Amino acid sequence: MKLATVWLGGCSGCHMSFLDLDEWLIDLSAQVDVVYSPFVDVKEYPKGVDVVLIEGAIANEQHLELIHKIRERTQTIISFGDCAITGNVTALRNPLGSAEIVLQRSYIETADINPQIPHAPGIIPPLVDKVLPVHQVVAVDIYLPGCPPSAPNIRAVLESLLKGEKPLIAGREIIKFG
Ligand code: SF4
Repeated sequence: MKLATVWLGGCSGCHMSFLDLDEWLIDLSAQVDVVYSPFVDVKEYPKGVDVVLIEGAIANEQHLELIHKIRERTQTIISFGDCAITGNVTALRNPLGSAEIVLQRSYIETADINPQIPHAPGIIPPLVDKVLPVHQVVAVDIYLPGCPPSAPNIRAVLESLLKGEKPLIAGREIIKFG
């Protein structure tokens, strides 16, 4: 299985939970080829990915561009954690109305010295006005909730996929937000 993990607008807590798989990561590494991830040094999302775990919501233009590429190149997309599924923490800025209001508050109004909004075209991607969960931009195949999803639940989903089965996301233990 060609496995990818992607870090969009999230705190990396979902990836930390993935690392909580501990020694099972050794078993997993024997069964998958990790082709793209914050854990590996690959710059371009490759073609022919079987499964991707997507952490985080769509919060900037780089996320928007990448998620379309991911959809084109991936068989199974898993919305990995509450930010990917609902927007969660990343979407808390949505009621403020626009990215500009958030930037003004963060970098101008509350600055002690040298107030300025970071601007580096091609390096710092512009924020989108409204943070979106992944499924509002591209089709999602599997939803794995949690903030973050627990390591046992991540393992259960990956084990099903490795057996060629669709994971059963049912019951209080796995359908658990927060
Ligand atoms: Fe962080 Fe929770 Fe969002 Fe995962 S779901 S990226 S742990 S805030």
